Amino acid sequence: MASICELHQQLVNKERSAVEIVQEALNRIEQLDSKLNSFLCVTADRALQQARQVDAKIAAGEEIGLLAGIPIGIKDNLCTQGITTTCASKILQNFVPPYESTVTQKLADAGAIMVGKTNLDEFAMGSSTENSAYKVTANPWDVQRVPGGSSGGSAAAVAADECVVALGSDTGGSIRQPASFCGIVGMKPTYGLVSRYGLVAYASSLDQIGPLARTVEDAAILLQAIAGYDVKDATSLNVQIPNYLAALKPTLKPKSRVKIGIIKETFGEGLDPIVEQAVTKAIEILQELGAEIQVISCPRFRYGLPTYYIIAPSEASANLARYDGVKYGFRSPDAENLIDMYCQTRAEGFGAEVKRRIMVGTYTLSAGYYDAYYLKAQKVRTLIKQDFERALSQVEVLVCPTAPTTAFKAGEKTADPLSMYLSDLMTIPVNLAGLPALSIPCGFDEQGLPIGMQLIGKVLGEARLLEVAYAYEQATAWHIRKPQL
Ligand code: GLN
Repeated sequence: MASICELHQQLVNKERSAVEIVQEALNRIEQLDSKLNSFLCVTADRALQQARQVDAKIAAGEEIGLLAGIPIGIKDNLCTQGITTTCASKILQNFVPPYESTVTQKLADAGAIMVGKTNLDEFAMGSSTENSAYKVTANPWDVQRVPGGSSGGSAAAVAADECVVALGSDTGGSIRQPASFCGIVGMKPTYGLVSRYGLVAYASSLDQIGPLARTVEDAAILLQAIAGYDVKDATSLNVQIPNYLAALKPTLKPKSRVKIGIIKETFGEGLDPIVEQAVTKAIEILQELGAEIQVISCPRFRYGLPTYYIIAPSEASANLARYDGVKYGFRSPDAENLIDMYCQTRAEGFGAEVKRRIMVGTYTLSAGYYDAYYLKAQKVRTLIKQDFERALSQVEVLVCPTAPTTAFKAGEKTADPLSMYLSDLMTIPVNLAGLPALSIPCGFDEQGLPIGMQLIGKVLGEARLLEVAYAYEQATAWHIRKPQL
């Protein structure tokens, strides 16, 4: 599918109608999704009805915004009023939210058209989308491989042209890592920039919603539409939102000479040599574009993973306590008393990975272990944040690979959770520090699988990040290559 700006022009020039554009996406889903499994539900009738409303506006000579009539995928952990929101969990299989998340409401107000809810790892816990209770999403570049996770459905849908852009959520890398595996752009904004109201909570101090798109420009447009203060989210930042599109310029020279730091610790052991090569080459291109490059050390970066796997499960165990079979969602039918009902509902409703995290989190928060684990992890979190602060006082943007490898085969890591956790090695520290970061395609391996480069910015440095990413994208052609489907 064309880009948001191209589609917008076609609509305004009356070359195509919104109904035709939405139908194109729906046809693509119809044709491909039995193979890819990107979507948990497709909202075709509603989408076409909304497209007709956009067409009516155009016919009436009303002005429309950039997102009007644009088909979009929504990760199924974002509440959509009247439409099932399952979090890819059995425990929410029949949950129809009575309210709308702030981000989806903002998109609807902008005229964007949701074509369906996308697959994810159950409650966003995972790195391959294999933890979904319903289906396994395939990577459009090689259907034997995973699309990454947890926003694997959104990433695969965008890469396969089943929609123009999509929303994902990122707690430890769930937007950036699947973007990297699927050869698209994925951005995690600064913690608090985008309202989390209506995002089903996984680990509240880390979760952020963000865009997945084929180009930096599309990502900027989507971010613009969802960013901003929201009274309904107590952690929402009340700040002025810059014009992200205006930040995109074809070169970094000469005015915006940006200093970029290579995170030393992310290179070397454990990094696939082909990924290292591609990212190194990409850094050279950034330099040619006018960036000043230096190597920077974040010595505590490597403690990110163990720290995250204390903090995230702790928060998850508290957040997931609400699924008890009483208030909403699945209830086990066979229990004889209340306690049994709680136990059986949770035993039958949650998958193995979710249970693993609830158990770890309950343990790390329990009396006697709290200080040794949870409190300690919070202290290390502060140290990691300080490392970033020090690095980002010397440079404006940090660069490293998004993931240590390209997409792995389905089933390859399911039996070994630790090796699965390692795929988020480079994305997780960013969430612990609350910083913005994006992944942008920077090459392909010898099997034709995409490689991603991660750019990390200062707090609220989204415009600068997008500027650097855009200049790189315009100087390369990675984003033009498409998977053969
Ligand atoms: N893969 C990480 C996890 O399983 C990150 C997931 C996410 O960002 N939602 O926790």
